[in-house]
Amino acid sequence: NEVSDLVTKEDLLEKDRKYVWHHMSAHNENPMILASGEGSWVTDVDGNRYLDGMSGLWCVNVGHGRKEIAEAAAEQMMKIAYATLVQSHVPAIELAAKLNEWLDGEYRIFYSNSGSDANEVAFKIARQYHHQNGKPSKHKFISRHRAYHGNSMGALGATGQAQRKLKYEPLGVGFQHVPPPYCYRCPFGQTKGSCSFQCAKAIEDAIVWEGADSVAGVIVEPVITGGGMIVPPDEYLPMVRSICDKHDVLLIVDEVICGFGRSGEKFGHLNYGVRPDIVTMAKGLTSAYSPLSATAVSAELYESFKDKEATSHLRHINTFGGNPVSCVVAMKNMEILEKENLVSRSAQIGNMFRDQLEPLLDHPNVGDIRIFGSAMGIELVEDRESKVPATADRVMKIIIGCKQKGLLIGKNGDTVPGFANILTLSPPLSSTDEDVAFIIETLL
Ligand code: PLP
Repeated sequence: NEVSDLVTKEDLLEKDRKYVWHHMSAHNENPMILASGEGSWVTDVDGNRYLDGMSGLWCVNVGHGRKEIAEAAAEQMMKIAYATLVQSHVPAIELAAKLNEWLDGEYRIFYSNSGSDANEVAFKIARQYHHQNGKPSKHKFISRHRAYHGNSMGALGATGQAQRKLKYEPLGVGFQHVPPPYCYRCPFGQTKGSCSFQCAKAIEDAIVWEGADSVAGVIVEPVITGGGMIVPPDEYLPMVRSICDKHDVLLIVDEVICGFGRSGEKFGHLNYGVRPDIVTMAKGLTSAYSPLSATAVSAELYESFKDKEATSHLRHINTFGGNPVSCVVAMKNMEILEKENLVSRSAQIGNMFRDQLEPLLDHPNVGDIRIFGSAMGIELVEDRESKVPATADRVMKIIIGCKQKGLLIGKNGDTVPGFANILTLSPPLSSTDEDVAFIIETLL
């Protein structure tokens, strides 16, 4: 029993049922209550151990129980726990410099608290940039169906998943959606390897039809993760970059999940050799040990916010963004990623999945397996020929079966709005060979 002598699990459950509003689901009568974690493993209050195959919500990149992060946070709290970024502080400065090293370009770093915040800031910066560059009518954003960019009114507006938006509309306005680069179910009826990249051209069509003078930016994740691990053809992102250049439209790359090693590179876009105008990041930035996000803005863009007149400044402030404790946590997290070579470990984990899970491709209910770095989606179908998405029952049976064997996995990507038929995994990048073997054995 992991609960203290004074508290029983029943006490906890009773209070949970009475007071806690759970995320996403209707109230969960019997939630798993986690008590501790070490490496890739978490333990619930009954003492059951599970391999955390999703790193929480795709975020605990360095694994659980890193004492050095806790110590760095405690030390900073004792020095100074809070300072605003209207002024500055040492951890924010050092982290911004470190992020520049990782981004392989010159970027200004604006700190916030969550991935949603980071995207909201990106949208405001993009609109203001065009305003201050003689093109005030550029205000719309192009995004993709299936994309997830956050829960706030603008970020949810950018999100391309209808089921998450119902009952909250109208959301932030000016977001147009185009079909995703979903080769397994090509929205244009083409075949990977012999296609004409209609998915990239759809972005240009949207810009042209909306009127390039009205479009401020395009927002993409390098790979659509939460929308079902939709890995584009290699040519896609470079094509999107040149479409943006052609129409004076900013390219915003959402690295909230793909960043910090998850993709097998420091950032997902580095796999494709493109340089975004704006990069947003959260989750793996601190491995979720403390909330922090950042919007990295290219030095060229930042130029138009630098004038002495207050009218050119970005009118955005948030209390907790760039909190010194979170910045120190991010620095320690990045130090671990570097010291333990976890970025290349991520690619290695993906290769182990690719090699050893091949037999799954013969299973009648496995339609496709898509891997990007150490993130993986297994698309389940009722029938491989017709590609009818697997039923919710089938998907849930597998998830529950894995949990009974000690493996936590996710489900994402509603191919049919309403339920997700793509199993997802994104284990900690620090997973040992034994951990990875356990995942593979359980899935097989
Ligand atoms: N962008 C992407 C790609 C995400 O996956 C998420 C969250 O899952 C977000 C943005 C929003 O991040 P947050 O939940 O920290 O607001």
